[in-house]
Amino acid sequence: MSKLRQQAVSAASNRKPMEVEKPRVKTSEYYGEKVFNRKAMTKYLSKETYRIISKVIDNGETIDRGIAEHVAAGMRMWALENGATHYTHWFHPLTDGTAEKHDAFVEHDGHGGLIEEFSGKLLAQQEPDASSFPSGGLRNTFEARGYSAWDPTSPAFIVEDTLCIPTIFISYTGEALDYKTPLLRAIAKINKAAVDVCHYFDEDVANVHANLGWEQEYFLVDEDLYAARPDLMLTGRTLMSHESAKNQQLEDHYFGSIPLRVQQFMKELEYESYALGIPVKTRHNEVAPNQFELAPIYEECNLAVDHNLLVMSLMDKIARKHSFRVLLHEKPFKGINGSGKHNNWSLGTDTGINLLSPGKNTKENLRFITFIVNILAAVYKNNGLLKASISSATNAHRLGANEAPPAIISVFLGTEVSEILHKFENSSIQDAIVADKKKGISLGVGQIPEIILDNTDRNRTSPFAFTGNRFEFRAVGSSANCASAMTALNAAVAEQLALFKKEVDERIASGKSKEEALYEVLKKYIKESRPICFNGNNYSEQWKEEARNRGLDCETSVPVIYDAYTSAQSIKTFAGVMSEVELHARNEVKWEMYSKKIQIESRVLGDLALNHIIPVSISYQSVLLNNIASLKTIYPDESRFTAMAGEQIRLVEKVSAHVNAINAKVHEMTDARKVANAIEGEQEKAIAYHDTITPYLDEIRHHIDKLELIVDDNMWPLPKYRELLFIR
Ligand code: ADP
Ligand code: MG
Repeated sequence: MSKLRQQAVSAASNRKPMEVEKPRVKTSEYYGEKVFNRKAMTKYLSKETYRIISKVIDNGETIDRGIAEHVAAGMRMWALENGATHYTHWFHPLTDGTAEKHDAFVEHDGHGGLIEEFSGKLLAQQEPDASSFPSGGLRNTFEARGYSAWDPTSPAFIVEDTLCIPTIFISYTGEALDYKTPLLRAIAKINKAAVDVCHYFDEDVANVHANLGWEQEYFLVDEDLYAARPDLMLTGRTLMSHESAKNQQLEDHYFGSIPLRVQQFMKELEYESYALGIPVKTRHNEVAPNQFELAPIYEECNLAVDHNLLVMSLMDKIARKHSFRVLLHEKPFKGINGSGKHNNWSLGTDTGINLLSPGKNTKENLRFITFIVNILAAVYKNNGLLKASISSATNAHRLGANEAPPAIISVFLGTEVSEILHKFENSSIQDAIVADKKKGISLGVGQIPEIILDNTDRNRTSPFAFTGNRFEFRAVGSSANCASAMTALNAAVAEQLALFKKEVDERIASGKSKEEALYEVLKKYIKESRPICFNGNNYSEQWKEEARNRGLDCETSVPVIYDAYTSAQSIKTFAGVMSEVELHARNEVKWEMYSKKIQIESRVLGDLALNHIIPVSISYQSVLLNNIASLKTIYPDESRFTAMAGEQIRLVEKVSAHVNAINAKVHEMTDARKVANAIEGEQEKAIAYHDTITPYLDEIRHHIDKLELIVDDNMWPLPKYRELLFIR
């Protein structure tokens, strides 16, 4: 074994669990202690300031400078008392992860000393250097400056010594340069549209909020093994390695006990999450070895997105303390499951109603059907866009493989809800009203059980499934910022609800009763949206065929999938959320990111192939050749020699064939890269990377993985899957 691999393997197998100190108080007592939440605000703000800021948070009202000044003063006092020395505007640029620039609270006091300062102006707005973040050309056309502006709806928090203030990040002329800005606009849009539709059923609803409960999947690997795999370090996934003889086929990981080292990591992650006000609830092993999941209780969408980003960065930090590296890549290992991040999504009202739960009477059930049907229609019209919202170079490895949804968006409703819609479509309003009066049967569709949660059949193959009181958008990737999917989904449903209201109001204006109008439009939508409903096996080949016939978006090339963002429908969908200029600019960023990720993978694979794999393969070949030469001197007789050395000779030939193929393909790949790099347009370049570079990644890997099975294990330089996986 190469020295590095040997050391890494023994370091990893000798590692002991790191004990984590348990908090001395109950979870509920330290929950949110590092957050400037309502409890802290009541203590550090005047009654009047608290009243105003509460209104801003609850109703999205704008904040004035005077109030910002008061809040800043209270926040500063709270932060200093809780050990913060610095503050930062915390935002989500269009790269992976979050960005922050820390400044100390200190200012000159005018007498040669320093005082801690933090003004309302610094809280409300800052100017980070926008040129260090991708803008997709918005900077060239407009101004280089970018602003970060306070988002009072997501509370500030302290990480180590820094007060982090969630902010949006926009260009000088107001174009979004981040994920949060469009998300907030989409949330505002769905609030308005859903409240309007709620008023057909209930005048008391003043606010509707989108909820999100994410389920974060991830892998852990030992840090020494990770360090011995340059591909993992540089690309987040293994670009080579043969499958381990044992991986997930015994299905023993999911229900197995969590390894002690991992348990300690999870505990510390949970303690930190609670202190930061993140309501983490579920932890468990996942299907693949070394794969785990963490899920909180669902929260308002914007807050849930911030919390997910925060958890992803906490995971990274805490994993290091436990001598692990966390892998958030969607497909770190070939041949075993990849990682996703199911986005559980629902709509709730300020009157405490979940709009995706069936109700107790006709009116409530009609409301339930109204929202379900409008969501169906929205997903149908925007199926290409929703796919684009979750597509990336890394998630492409997961989608379409036989474990995750295919690259086609469909909706699973389950037999119960499908049946309800079917009956509704074939019922008449008169029947329903009569039946309702006589027998208490609602809507002519039979009684809808109040809780279908427990008896909803679960279709694990569906990318977008109704699970009783919410939809579960399962196609989201583990490394993604949920804001991308949530912006598209909320905008799509908002636009659809607004259209629905328009169509219903038109019918009412022409003399129909409200009920008749609702019935008519809903029935029309059920019929129109039928192609999006699919309760069968999404992995099957027949479905791909069928989906194409139904006219669903079946594109599989990520750089082409992004075109859905600028379709005529998407421009309507994003009205008030993202302008055409913003949509185009963002696609530029996505194409650029795509090309860069494939470029890095291609370079790393080329280096490893030429500098690691070919040299050891040739060394092994020399061993074989020496042996063959010795056999020849000892057995000069031809037939005897062939009998003795035949297998070695065949091995020598096999090694040569693989080495030659690798060498040739690496050079062809490098040439293809040169051609791609010379292409001007970002989309054309990304398409070239997709079409002409990615096939080489698979082909070269194939030969390397074959060599791994041939070359002496003692010589193989990189930790193998059986060593990387299976934490003890
Ligand atoms: P699963 O069985 O799919 O793993 P869980 O019951 O663990 O599902 O819940 C997954 C996530 O769904 C959790 O974050 C949970 O809080 C969230 N969730 C539950 N109800 C809703 C809802 N009405 N709206 C949004 N998210 C929800
Ligand atoms: Mg789930």
